[in-house]
Amino acid sequence: MTQLPLRAQLASALGRSAATLSRMTGRGDGSVIGGRVGLMLEPDLLRQLARDRRLALISATNGKTTTTRLITSALLEMGEVATNAYGANMPAGHVSALSQHKDAPYGVLEVDEKYLPEVLDTTGAGVVCLMNLSRDQMDRAAEIWLLAQKWRRALSGKPTHVIANCDDPLVTWGASTAAKVTWVSGGQRWKEDSWCCPECGGPLDRKDRHWACRECTFHRPEPQWILDDDAVIDPRGQRWVLDIQLPGAANRSNAAMALAVAEAFGLPVERALPRLREVTSVAGRYTTVERDGRHARLLLAKNPAGWLEAFDVSDPALPIILSVNAQGPDGRDTSWLWDVDYRILRGRPVFVTGERRLDLALRLDVADVPFVLADTFSEALAAQPPGRVDVIANYTAFQQIRSEFGRAV
Ligand SMILES: [Zn+2]
Repeated sequence: MTQLPLRAQLASALGRSAATLSRMTGRGDGSVIGGRVGLMLEPDLLRQLARDRRLALISATNGKTTTTRLITSALLEMGEVATNAYGANMPAGHVSALSQHKDAPYGVLEVDEKYLPEVLDTTGAGVVCLMNLSRDQMDRAAEIWLLAQKWRRALSGKPTHVIANCDDPLVTWGASTAAKVTWVSGGQRWKEDSWCCPECGGPLDRKDRHWACRECTFHRPEPQWILDDDAVIDPRGQRWVLDIQLPGAANRSNAAMALAVAEAFGLPVERALPRLREVTSVAGRYTTVERDGRHARLLLAKNPAGWLEAFDVSDPALPIILSVNAQGPDGRDTSWLWDVDYRILRGRPVFVTGERRLDLALRLDVADVPFVLADTFSEALAAQPPGRVDVIANYTAFQQIRSEFGRAV
């Protein structure tokens, strides 16, 4: 690998020191502040750090942290990998990830959907993985359509190899200006944001995973990779049972995307898949915390599509605790609760907590789901019989539970 210019070396080193200082003073993992310091000293730092590496950028509304982790795990089979493991998914986080692993020949970067065009332009990444696009908190369909349009412009005319989920019409549209696309049929759980053709606005006809516009020629491309229940069918027609430890259909879809990305890097399924099976939890998700014989499994749901995925993972035989906040990172408006169908919880013992528990309580009441209100998560947990319980929490509620119960990973 060629040496970084002196100024970039210095900016990178100072950024790492700032990150260390931030960690030592207990202000989080330091990756954002470290990257910001580095970028302030050398605005071109991300481009310079990205040079001479093989990079994959991972973007989606849901599942990007997990998929980034799965791909990283796979590529470690070939060598050192730089990655932003804790979801610092804007340029400062990317600078930090790359400068912490200066000599890593590979980089796997989770990228915020809105930053994808900028990060792609700056890094010239060879591989981009696009999984799903749906409303996040207060975004509405028009905003995510604009986002997909920006992806189209960013990908057009570049040699980037895109790996995209063709079961999501908006992702398909966003990816289809790329020179090379590998289509993966990864399924689509949340369809509420894609009843209209992104090309012409006409109605989309759907049958199973297939979709096509009734009014123009836009339709689902033929996938090379297919998620088939608990297995993946590769481009040669070979069926691989996934047998991963991460639970649920959404994670099997993430694994299918990860295998396709690994192959784009020259890593065959037989070497990548065993690495995916080693991943048991991602930044605290799916971990179990314990207190007084109550074993609570933590599921994160940041938006309506995320709640559907969490319901899918949750064990219907268990009681469930729901915790909702509305701080900055969650979106301050909780009207998104009305986009989620909670009726699936009928018949289960449901406990409601979090700073906005009353908003959720009203939503459940209208959906005819009986529940118990608890002032704190500890109180909700103590109300359980000893044994297992599932917890679904949105972003800051999830972080509060993790910090109270220790960062068990
Ligand atoms: Zn159309």
